[in-house]
Amino acid sequence: MDVVILLGAPGSGKGTVCTRVAEAVGYRHLSTGDRLREAVKAGTAVGREARPYIERGDLVPDEVMIRIVAEAMTSEAPELRRFILDGFPRTDAQALLLQQRLRDEGGRICAVILLEAPRDVLIERLAGRRVCRDCGATYHVVNIPPKHEGQCDACGGELVQRPDDNEATVRNRLEVYERQTASLIEFYERAGGLRRVDSARPLDVMVSEIRDLIVAGVS
Ligand code: ADP
Ligand code: ZN
Repeated sequence: MDVVILLGAPGSGKGTVCTRVAEAVGYRHLSTGDRLREAVKAGTAVGREARPYIERGDLVPDEVMIRIVAEAMTSEAPELRRFILDGFPRTDAQALLLQQRLRDEGGRICAVILLEAPRDVLIERLAGRRVCRDCGATYHVVNIPPKHEGQCDACGGELVQRPDDNEATVRNRLEVYERQTASLIEFYERAGGLRRVDSARPLDVMVSEIRDLIVAGVS
């Protein structure tokens, strides 16, 4: 199993970047946020358990996350287990679990990439983000506008604001990131190979830089 880890605060653009990079490098985009939102939408047991945490902008308990990720990984055939992890790990316990899994399976981390942006950029991105109600595609009212206002380019679905993109929840998500996730930067820095990418630049520039980093890490 080969994994690439994308770290970064809410609003740093992990999801948008991963969607564009994953296909180019032949990796599967594994977004724990997307998995959780699907589970909430489908009303599964996991979704019902996770929903209140997501609405507050708190982290969903590690046991739940570990189950979701293990399931997603093992659902791929062993020779297809190449993942870009978007939103996981987010706590020390999740990072340790991933290490253990990689050890057990003889897998490796090809690259750890940190998307960095100043706080005002993060907030502006989250406030202007819109998502397609039907297919989940992501837009931004200014930076990535759809061709027709309020309408998804891909499927024509209605564009809405994510419920956890309201101001109070955004503030909490940024605090939770500082408190529970930022320490992983040091963890992966010590482990070696953490690369920092300035995510306040145009998306295309960032995407090609990240693609190059991944290709260099894989070979
Ligand atoms: P963002 O990075 O912009 O906050 P995500 O879609 O990655 O957005 O996450 C949305 C929410 O899903 C988080 O606020 C949290 O409640 C939950 N979540 C996602 N990934 C994890 C994780 N690895 N551990 C715990 N909770 C998670
Ligand atoms: Zn759509």
